[in-house]
Amino acid sequence: MKKVAFYTLGCKLNFSETSTISRKFEEKGYQKVDFTDRPDIFIINTCSVTENADKKCRKIVREARSISPDAYVAIIGCYAQLKPKEISEIPGVDAVLGAAEKFRLVELLDGFVRQPEAVVYASDVEKANTFNTSYSINDRTRTFLKVQDGCDYSCSFCTIPLARGSSRSDSIENILKTAREIAQTEVKEIVLTGVNTGDFGIRNGKREEHFIDLIQALDTVEGIDRFRVSSIEPNLLTDEIIEFVAQSNRFVPHFHVPLQSGSNKILKLMRRRYQRELYTSRVEKIKASMPNACIGVDVIVGFPGETQEDFLETYQYLNELNIAYLHVFTYSERDNTLASTMKGRVPERERSERSRMLHILSDKKRRKFYEDNLGQSAAVLFENDIEDGHMHGFTENYIRVTAKYDPVLINELKPVRLTHINEKGLMEAEDLAEEILLH
Ligand code: SF4
Repeated sequence: MKKVAFYTLGCKLNFSETSTISRKFEEKGYQKVDFTDRPDIFIINTCSVTENADKKCRKIVREARSISPDAYVAIIGCYAQLKPKEISEIPGVDAVLGAAEKFRLVELLDGFVRQPEAVVYASDVEKANTFNTSYSINDRTRTFLKVQDGCDYSCSFCTIPLARGSSRSDSIENILKTAREIAQTEVKEIVLTGVNTGDFGIRNGKREEHFIDLIQALDTVEGIDRFRVSSIEPNLLTDEIIEFVAQSNRFVPHFHVPLQSGSNKILKLMRRRYQRELYTSRVEKIKASMPNACIGVDVIVGFPGETQEDFLETYQYLNELNIAYLHVFTYSERDNTLASTMKGRVPERERSERSRMLHILSDKKRRKFYEDNLGQSAAVLFENDIEDGHMHGFTENYIRVTAKYDPVLINELKPVRLTHINEKGLMEAEDLAEEILLH
């Protein structure tokens, strides 16, 4: 039995796809092993957003070769789609597969026999127009279910449409089927993921369904306690979606909404489809319907043309906004993007300083959000995340709770009262009787 190992860089989507590809290998009789377990085949799933994607890819290939010198090494993922030739020239690489080919890997690389030269299967990204159902199961607790892929927007900094192709989705019928399959396992929470999740519903270039239809349908699936939406563009986060989540027992009050900049001038240069007033209205609507909702924000610092004043405008804006945390990205130039040709390059030192300031702001915001929730009751889903004799889990509104390890509570929804924020910034809680809470 041949042994296969996987390495994944990048986002949740990549993880869900690696997971699905690994199940295909298992169905064909391969044995999935750890990276260090002398595999016969290595599959490396790359990301184009990752800083130094090229360097990282080379390093992992070197590492793989030193573990199993004769193994077969295949590279897939966004970076493989963007730079197939460059990757095929990395010493030790046997195959490169683009976005349209990666799910047919087992068939295309028939038998995984090494050739003197690396083989490349990377069609133009326009060919990546089919949807492949994918979900990951890391531990028993949560699964990332891909419902949408690709993107039709043209944000000036982003290479994702070049790497993943145009927007397309699974059908609601198929997603319900997959969700019911997942409900048969021990998984308690499904996280809906996509490149542009809110754009759900396009099939063969035509809009067939909407995101609101999907969440309404999923809400009826028995056997899943929680649904979480991984990220949604502010212009697609409609009142209808917010109101639906507010009254749903299963969709949790947690929204991750990319902002990218608090300066309207920069938003325009980024070619985002909204101005900050729209973003403010989304935050206000969420908080009016769900005062305890957790709102996370993506923001990019150091975009070309971002002056110190523009950055301070973003800082002030975020400082006043009722949100819980930030994901801060430092802008870096990407080939074939409009932004990389723009004037007003921000010096690296300045980019780092802005990132540092926003990281501090994020910690402050999170702390305030946790403080606002002290004394509240909540349900924690404890995960298989054990450290120093403690387990960790998340409440519906994404507060990370720590408690003394108790194997019985792993993968259970535990009703608690949030009591104390410890020195690590984690929430501690006291038990509540089962019948008090749980929706
Ligand atoms: S919405 Fe913009 S940033 Fe997001 S994937 Fe599409 S083009 Fe990229």
